[in-house]
Amino acid sequence: MSETIFSKIIRREIPADIVYEDDLILAFRDIQPQAPIHILVIPKQPIESISTVTPADQAVLGHLMVKIQQIAAEAELVNGYRVVTNIGADGGQTVSHLHFHILGQRQMAWPPG
Ligand code: AMP
Repeated sequence: MSETIFSKIIRREIPADIVYEDDLILAFRDIQPQAPIHILVIPKQPIESISTVTPADQAVLGHLMVKIQQIAAEAELVNGYRVVTNIGADGGQTVSHLHFHILGQRQMAWPPG
């Protein structure tokens, strides 16, 4: 997988508004928020997208999924929120490092655009 801007955020080579970090994952505020609260949660290890994960990634992805509720709670998303991951060109993925968007503090629409 090629280097992305998220690798630079993980290494603190470019600034980000980090809201959570541990050994396996990092969460930071999206630079172009699509909702009043818009946080990205990423694994520190470079995985391109959900379509390239392998059984070796189970532990980190399970950990990431378990941590989303804590990150959302710390952002005070008490009334619900949306978790989205975009995959590839048709999915609207622009950064090729797996990330989950946490979007909240506004009413979400369905179907998504
Ligand atoms: P996606 O389009 O699903 O690949 O999402 C990529 C997200 O990364 C977009 O919502 C961008 O606004 C966000 N993004 C890109 N560069 C940065 C950055 N330096 N800091 C924070 N968020 C970023």
